[in-house]
Amino acid sequence: MIHTLPTLPYDLDSLEPYISKETLEFHYGKHHRTYVSNLNNLILDTKFSDLSLEEIVKESSGTIFNNAAQIWNHTFYWNSMSPEINSKNHKPTGKLFESICAQWGDLDTFKASFNASAISNFGSGWTWLVKKIDNSLDIINTSNAETPITTSNKPILTCDVWEHAYYIDYRNVRPKYLESFWALVNWEFAKQNFSS
Ligand code: MN
Repeated sequence: MIHTLPTLPYDLDSLEPYISKETLEFHYGKHHRTYVSNLNNLILDTKFSDLSLEEIVKESSGTIFNNAAQIWNHTFYWNSMSPEINSKNHKPTGKLFESICAQWGDLDTFKASFNASAISNFGSGWTWLVKKIDNSLDIINTSNAETPITTSNKPILTCDVWEHAYYIDYRNVRPKYLESFWALVNWEFAKQNFSS
C-alpha cells in the first residue's frame, strides 16, 4: 500500500496571521511530506507493506513507528485547527463543553492547564486533550512521535509543540504560539471526536 500526504483541510495562507504560509509550506509541505515518503521507503518488502497507517502505528516500533505516527499525528493536528473565518468552529458547545467545565471549572482554566502542560513538554512532542476509557477528559503530553492511539486514550485535540511548528513565526517562544493555537482551534472537530 502506498501512503499519501493527506490534503491540507485549508489553504496554506489561511491560518494567517497566527500561523504563516511559510510555516505551513515547511511544516506541511516538507516535514509532513517527508514522513510519508520515508514510510513508503521503509515498509517496502516488510510485513507492514499492506497494513493501514493506523495498523502500522499500533504494531511497529523504531523508525517505522516514528514516521507512521508522525504522519497520523500531523493529519490530526491540521484538523485540530480551522481558519479564523470559520467562526462557528471556534467555540466548544454541547457535551464536550459540559465535560470541560466538569473537569476544569471553565474554559479559561482548561486552556491554562493545557498551556502549562504544553510549555512543560520538554524537547519535541505533542500535547493532547484526550477522552479516557471512563469518558472523562484529560490533558496528556507525548514525546517525539508518541501518540495516544497506541493507548486506551482517545484523542480529541492536539497541539504540535515541536519547534518546527513555531520557530519561523515565534522563534523559541512557545507560549506565543500557544496563544495563536487557541485562536484557531477547531472545536467542531473536537466535538466530533468526543461524541464518536
Ligand atoms: Mn510537526
